[in-house]
Amino acid sequence: MGEKDIYRHDVIVIGGGLSGLRAAIEACDCGADVAVVSKVYPLRSHSVAAQGGINAALGNSPEAKNDTWEKHAFDTIRGSVYLADQDAVEVLCRQAPETVLELEHWGTVFSRDHEGKIAQRPFGGADVPRTCYAADRTGHNLMNTLFEQASYRGITFHNEYFVTSLVVDEEICRGCIALNLRSGKVHAFNSSSLILATGGYGMIYDHSTNSLINTGDGMALAINAGAQLKDMEFVQFHPTTLYGSNILISEGARGEGAYLVNSEGDRFMARYAPQSMELAPRDIVARSIMKEIKAGRGFKDGYVHLDLRHLGADIIKERLPGIRQIAMDFAGLDPVEVPIPVQPGQHYSMGGIDVNIDGETGVKGLYAVGECACISVHGANRLGGNSLLDTLVFGRRTGRKACSESNDGHVPILKEVMTREIQRLQDLINNKGEGFAPLMSEIKKTMFDRFGIFRDEADMNEGLRSLNDLGQRYKQVSVKGSGKAFNQSLIRVLELGYMVDTAEAVALSAIERKESRGSHFRTDFPDRSDDLYLKHTIISTDDKLQRSIDFSPVKLGLFPVKGDNYQ
Ligand SMILES: Cc1cc2nc3c(=O)[nH]c(=O)nc-3n(C[C@H](O)[C@H](O)[C@H](O)COP(=O)(O)OP(=O)(O)OC[C@H]3O[C@@H](n4cnc5c(N)ncnc54)[C@H](O)[C@@H]3O)c2cc1C
Repeated sequence: MGEKDIYRHDVIVIGGGLSGLRAAIEACDCGADVAVVSKVYPLRSHSVAAQGGINAALGNSPEAKNDTWEKHAFDTIRGSVYLADQDAVEVLCRQAPETVLELEHWGTVFSRDHEGKIAQRPFGGADVPRTCYAADRTGHNLMNTLFEQASYRGITFHNEYFVTSLVVDEEICRGCIALNLRSGKVHAFNSSSLILATGGYGMIYDHSTNSLINTGDGMALAINAGAQLKDMEFVQFHPTTLYGSNILISEGARGEGAYLVNSEGDRFMARYAPQSMELAPRDIVARSIMKEIKAGRGFKDGYVHLDLRHLGADIIKERLPGIRQIAMDFAGLDPVEVPIPVQPGQHYSMGGIDVNIDGETGVKGLYAVGECACISVHGANRLGGNSLLDTLVFGRRTGRKACSESNDGHVPILKEVMTREIQRLQDLINNKGEGFAPLMSEIKKTMFDRFGIFRDEADMNEGLRSLNDLGQRYKQVSVKGSGKAFNQSLIRVLELGYMVDTAEAVALSAIERKESRGSHFRTDFPDRSDDLYLKHTIISTDDKLQRSIDFSPVKLGLFPVKGDNYQ
C-alpha cells in the first residue's frame, strides 16, 4: 500500500485483539469502510495468551443441565460485589451462548465432551461448569478465527502503527495520529467513529501476567482527549502465576481440580472459603495465599504450591498441555510429577474508559471496548472466563453502533495536530535527561508495593507522591537514539507517558475509595460500605488539565444487593 499522509476510513479501530477484531467485523458487516490500527501484528495482541476459557450458559455438562443466563448473571454480579451495572451484565450473559456458537460456526476448535458438544469446565465464582475452552489455548484459537474472518472481509490493517494522540475538535473525535514504526513517519487517520480497543495496563505493575505491550495507552489517550475513566482502583491479581517469571498458570488448572497447598502440606483454602475452596473468586484466593505467606506458611522466598499430580498424566496432557509446557520450560519441572510454585500477580484491569452498553464515551465519535473499557460488567472483581466474553459481546455491539456515525473530513485540524505531534516527538528525541528504564522500574515497584493486594492510606499517599515525582522526571526523559526505523527507545518513552497517566488514575481512585470491596482491599477500612461506596469512581480532566474525581450511581435492577460472603 502506498504511504499517504492522511488516511480516511468510516470506522477506525485502534487495537487488533479480540475486542478490536470483533468490532471491526461488525462495523464492516454494517457496510462501513473499516480499518484496524495496531502497534503490533494483530496475532501478537495479548488476547492470544488467554488460556482457561470463555463463559456461556450452554448447559452442556451434566452438572450444568439447568444452567441459564440468569444464573450466569447472578454469579457475575455477586462476584463483582454488586458494583457491576446490571443492565450491562444482562446483555453479557443473555448473548453469551449465541456468541460462543457464532465462534464455533466460524471455525474455532473448542475442546469437546464425550457427546461431541463444546466442553465446559468449572471456574472460580461460578455455580456450575460454564467455561467453554480450547484446551488451555482458548485465546489463541479465538484470535485466529477472528483474524481469518476479518481478513476474509477485506478489512484494512495498518499494522505496526503506534497511536500517539487522538484528534478531538469541537468535542467531536475526528481521528488519531500514529507513528509508522517501520518508517518512522507520522500519519493522520481521519474517521467518523474511532473505537479504542487497546487492552489493559499490566505493565504499570511489577509481577504481571500481561504482555510487554499492555501499557494502558487507550486509557491515557482517552482521558487526555476529554473522556472519563471509571473504577480504576479495581486491579485484579491472579492467584496463580509461576513463581519468578509470573507467567499465568490458568484458573483452568484449579477448574480441573488442582489443589493449593502451603509449606505445611495443608489445603489452606479450607480456612478461608471452606465450600468453594480453590474455586472461590480470584480476589479471595489471592488474598488467602498472601495471608499464608505472611503467616510464615509459604515456601522460602514467598510462594505456595499448586498441586496437579492427583489429576493424572492423561488429564494434564489433554486439557492443560500449555500449562505443563510453561512449567517445564520456565521452571524446569513437570507438573505430572512435581507441584508448581505459584504466587499472585497483577492480571487484569476491571476499571477503564467509562462507556455505556453501546461502547460510547462522553466524546462524540469516540468509543471504547474490551479490557481498556469499563461498561461495567466486572465491577470490583472479574470472574475468570468473563473477559473473553466481554470482548466479543461488546465488540459486536460497539462495532454496530459505531458504523451509524457520519462526520465529514475535517482535514485542517488533522494537519494541525499532525504538525504538533511531529514537533513533540522531535522534542522528545532532543531531550537530554535520564533514560526511560529507571522510571519504568520505579512505577512498577511503586504500584506493586503501594497499590497492590493490600492497601492503606499512608502507603498510598506515599505512592502518589512518588508517582507525581516520576511525572515531573518524565518531562525530561531522553530517547536513546534518533533512528527512524523501529526506534524502540522512542516507543518505550511514549508508552512510559501512558503508564504515568494510567498509574496516577489508579492511585487517585484507590485513595478515594475508603472501603474494601472485591480486589480493592484496604487494611485501614477492611469492611465494605454500601451506604457510602456502592457507586462508581469517575476520573475526569478539568479545565486546568488537572484530574478531578467524582462518583456515578451503579445500575441495579436484576438482583437485590446482598451482604453475602463466599464460603
Ligand atoms: C495470560 C492471560 C490469560 C488470560 N486468560 C483469560 C481467559 O482464559 N479467559 C478470559 O475471559 N480472559 C482471560 N484473560 C483476559 C483477556 O485475555 C483480556 O482481557 C482480553 O483478551 C483483552 O482483549 P482486548 O481486545 O481488550 O485487548 P488486547 O488483546 O490486549 O489487544 C490490544 C490491542 O491494542 C493495540 N494497541 C495498544 N496500544 C496501542 C497504540 N498506542 N497504538 C496502536 N495500537 C495499540 C495492540 O497492538 C493490540 O492489538 C487473560 C489475560 C492474560 C494476560
